[in-house]
Amino acid sequence: MNPVYVDNNATTRVAPEVLEEMLPYFSELYGNPSSMHSFGGNVARKIKEARERVAEMIGATPGEILFTSCGTESDSTAIRAALISNPDKKHIITSRVEHPAIKNLFENLAKNGYRATFVPVDSKGVLDLDYLYRHLDDDTAVVSVMWANNESGVIFPVEEIAQAVNAKGIVFHTDAVQAVGKVPVNMKKVKADMLSLSGHKIHAPKGIGALYIRKGTKFSPFLIGGHQESGRRGGTENVASIIGLGKASEMALSHLTEMKTRIKKMRDKLETSLVKAVPNTMINGDKDHRLPNTSSIGFEFVEGEAILLMMDEFGICASSGSACTSGSLEPSHVLRAMGVPFTAAHGSIRFSLSTYNTEKEIDFIIEKVPPIIKRLRELSPFWKNTKCE
Ligand code: PLP
Repeated sequence: MNPVYVDNNATTRVAPEVLEEMLPYFSELYGNPSSMHSFGGNVARKIKEARERVAEMIGATPGEILFTSCGTESDSTAIRAALISNPDKKHIITSRVEHPAIKNLFENLAKNGYRATFVPVDSKGVLDLDYLYRHLDDDTAVVSVMWANNESGVIFPVEEIAQAVNAKGIVFHTDAVQAVGKVPVNMKKVKADMLSLSGHKIHAPKGIGALYIRKGTKFSPFLIGGHQESGRRGGTENVASIIGLGKASEMALSHLTEMKTRIKKMRDKLETSLVKAVPNTMINGDKDHRLPNTSSIGFEFVEGEAILLMMDEFGICASSGSACTSGSLEPSHVLRAMGVPFTAAHGSIRFSLSTYNTEKEIDFIIEKVPPIIKRLRELSPFWKNTKCE
């Protein structure tokens, strides 16, 4: 059975066109791009092309693109570089709903001498901008706010934030791992100093990412070693994956229109149909400022994990809004920060689409999910005690 894969914010399939461009670099074209001979030089040329393609996708220049091993490495590199460039400043700001790649890094820094401010969001997942701006001070070294949230899909006004943070001369980084390939990302408009992206969210392989570093931004390498990446990241390049990311970037740019039309239409259909068919169901997140592919739906009085397991029997792959913390299932920090009622947070499912999804798959989910929720609720003591059918 082919999976009905609607978990594309977790990871995406490698596009066949991407794989095709990568394959020769595992076999016959195995040269080291740093070598003096033309066998290596040909590989270096292909890496140059990949850098141009990534830059083109986000409105940057090739020299502003640094290849990394993943989104997490891009995030860590950016924050550490900002801190090294501002050794006297000890205040760092982020949001309460960041991916663990930033959240856990900031919590770690807070244990190691930094003063961390976590900006709250409201019940729709909208960032409290006044709170952010009030907390900018002379001691602030860096502000990192994600472009779009991986769970709710809510998009933050990064263009405005970048302007406000820049005006104070503070470094601004944005984690755009979920935004890239889903909404236009243009660094000519958004004046962030640094931006993280990840290959496996845009149909390139896992284990490749990139960090945009605006020309003129002070930078210190995270991996100190050879002269690769113009001395900004030591280590022989992950050649095939870099080439894959280049091709995937080209494709992502060309799929943006489809994202905001066909994919958004399917997402809306999925969401509207499930909310209509299943009582006591809510959408998590600001419907007006959301990624076109993402829907986080809270089904009250059921466990998300039970829904996932039952969907899995039909080959439907999605995610829940819970994380396993010390053996018990806790709603994620994102849903908690939004104050999603406990009853709905526990039964929250994230559906995230890609350009590979079809209308037939969406209809299949719409057919299978309501009876699953009904069956689970019949087993739920909480549901039996409510009068809210
Ligand atoms: N940032 C966000 C918003 C993400 O969604 C993810 C992955 O889910 C990451 C960072 C980490 O990216 P990677 O898996 O490439 O390390």
